[in-house]
Amino acid sequence: MNNIFVYIELENGAVADVSLELLTKGRELADELGVKLEAVVLGHGVAGIEKELAKYGADTVWVADDEIFAPFRTLPHTAVLCGLIRQEKPQIALFGATPVGRDFAPRVSSALHSGLTADCTQLVIGDHTDPKTKTDYKNLLYQIRPAFGGNIIATIVNPDHRPQMATVREGVMRKEYAAKAGAGEVKPIDWRPMVQDTDLAVKIIDRQIEERKINIKGAGVIVAGGYGMGSKENFKLVHELAEVLGAEVGASRAAVDAGFAEHARQVGQTGVTVRPKLYIACGISGQIQHTAGMDQSSMIISINTDAEAPICKIADFAITGDVNEVIPKMIKYYKQN
Ligand code: FAD
Repeated sequence: MNNIFVYIELENGAVADVSLELLTKGRELADELGVKLEAVVLGHGVAGIEKELAKYGADTVWVADDEIFAPFRTLPHTAVLCGLIRQEKPQIALFGATPVGRDFAPRVSSALHSGLTADCTQLVIGDHTDPKTKTDYKNLLYQIRPAFGGNIIATIVNPDHRPQMATVREGVMRKEYAAKAGAGEVKPIDWRPMVQDTDLAVKIIDRQIEERKINIKGAGVIVAGGYGMGSKENFKLVHELAEVLGAEVGASRAAVDAGFAEHARQVGQTGVTVRPKLYIACGISGQIQHTAGMDQSSMIISINTDAEAPICKIADFAITGDVNEVIPKMIKYYKQN
């Protein structure tokens, strides 16, 4: 049986969270299929990285360690990954839906004629019968993602081409050590024959990294405000409540579009996906495009004047009330306690 590849993205030498999330999911899929989970690392100075990857279940760690791979450059990465996939023939190859993954995964899939489902939010193994030919396919990767503006959840399968390739949104999958660590066996990639001179034609002369000032992705508590906050001025209540709770501030798209909050705070399908321990939704109706980015939160509290708003259906506690009355009371309470 062919194995599962997970491309390991590096951020300043550290493994990106999304890659650990993909290893966690990949381990689950590999166990179900009875195959091995293989991590692919292209970087520089990555000796010892296999120890961390093994904890998340990687059986094998393919490594190409050379300065041409760091910082990330599209063409050598594409060339080596294509070469390795041709050599090892995995049945599944997974990437984070990050700027890096979105850049080179489509190039890899195009070069291999394999197809790619972008921005998946769930991956499941299942069977499929072709409605025209009635051919049965066993153990395909169901690549699940919102489509048509989030109005439907599409399940996409790729019966005929290998590998089945997907990019997966950051933060939608759990990141957990495997119940049983993988072997983390390092296998060097014989990458030199895979890279042509033309792949190295683009040289990076200077690189400036702008620190993200707002980072709600990994926040444990998020207080999010919606259009129901009424104005930018009133949105300050959301910031105040967040401050007393030591939380980050999130926002719905309607709040961002109205200028109440910065785009980096937008939660949802076209914003960030979050899974905090506590998510307090203030004046947010809970349209599917918003809930797609937060419904995995451990606890959801909504504050809304409309008891029938969709957010109340997924909330653990739904407070029916005006944000202008409820939030100041909460701030007062938490300041005192
Ligand atoms: P509304 O839907 O206007 O809801 C406001 C809520 O506030 C209402 O429920 C109302 O009862 C309540 N309210 C009003 N006054 C008060 C008060 N004083 N006190 C308490 N409650 C009050 N949306 C996102 O959030 N994130 C996305 O990533 C996203 N991506 C999208 C992608 C596409 C392709 C499309 C088509 C849409 C997308 N949207 C996204 C928009 C989404 O469909 C909704 O329009 C948006 O989430 C609504 O934001 P809202 O809940 O703040 O506003």
